[in-house]
Amino acid sequence: MTTGFVWHERYAWHDLGSGAGPLRAGGWIEPGEPHAEHPATKRRIRNLLDASGLLPRLALLTPRPATEEQLLRFHTPQYLSRVRELSAGEGGSVGLDGWVGRGSYEVAALAAGGTITAIDAVLDGAVDNAYALVRPCGHHAEPAEGKGFCIFGNLVLGAMHARDARGIERIAVVDWDVHHGNGTQAAFYDDPSVLTISVHQDGVFPPASGSVHEKGAGAGVGTNINVPLPPGSGGGAYRDAFERVVIPALHRFRPDLLLVASGFDANGFDPMSRQLLSSEDFRRMARSVRELADELCGGRLVLSHEGGYHTGVVPFCGLAVLEELSGERTEVQDPFVPLLANSPWQSLQPHQRAAVDAAVAAAPLLA
Ligand code: ZN
Repeated sequence: MTTGFVWHERYAWHDLGSGAGPLRAGGWIEPGEPHAEHPATKRRIRNLLDASGLLPRLALLTPRPATEEQLLRFHTPQYLSRVRELSAGEGGSVGLDGWVGRGSYEVAALAAGGTITAIDAVLDGAVDNAYALVRPCGHHAEPAEGKGFCIFGNLVLGAMHARDARGIERIAVVDWDVHHGNGTQAAFYDDPSVLTISVHQDGVFPPASGSVHEKGAGAGVGTNINVPLPPGSGGGAYRDAFERVVIPALHRFRPDLLLVASGFDANGFDPMSRQLLSSEDFRRMARSVRELADELCGGRLVLSHEGGYHTGVVPFCGLAVLEELSGERTEVQDPFVPLLANSPWQSLQPHQRAAVDAAVAAAPLLA
């Protein structure tokens, strides 16, 4: 088993400046602390892969920047011009919690391109599966707006490349980032050839987005599935969501390529969410998508990195997922696992089961 891995030092050079949590400093927020979306979590994933000895056992893929033609498959020309203009100047806002800094255009194009590079490597058979550790993230980006720290829709652009340039007919995207994958949903809302499933904490971000009633439109009705889970959900709730929604939906849809928007911000210590997962839960979800890809689409599986904001826990989540994709275990033990595993709230609670029931009932694909 060969697993491709995309990382580029330049991903760490996109800069949101100082802030507090998701907000930039200013007004009554004292400057001087890093904004939540700073490079350390991602760089520390790469560093733990290195320290653990796993990194040299992966196939390192050098990302190519996405071309303008590739970016225009999803984004409007006006939006591209605006991002380019702000990036060449002093930066500025491109939407709700969407920020372009100096030089961010090039980094964001390299993040979209890194996801495309990983998909090409899998479709070419150069690697069996791949993880693109890209930054900035992508799943909140919309055609004419950056949102939630995202500039370009990395995985959307990857899926559109696979479809338009590589002739892949049926694509499924599973999004386990704790926030709703609104950008991916928007991109394929009326497209029956792309199944999008988002498992997220109910009502965090974007506002009023990601309900079970957002099922797709026109010919695409039924190929968008949301599983909003209540805050406080642990391994039991996520297992239930996978067993009763994600796995059966993928079996019914039968994709030719499986993509994952991989955020680690549902971890139990994350400052941006109220969920309880540990790296073992991410390992289990990675195993699940790997087995599904083996069964349904010749193993063709690509994960593109999204959120995850606790600098201590996130690297262990990344390592667990990469171990699972590559089939290589290292000697590393995640010291945070026991702190989370002992919570009595890890098991499926009745109101969490009811949330999954609602997602099942709303999904025509699961009828
Ligand atoms: Zn997120």
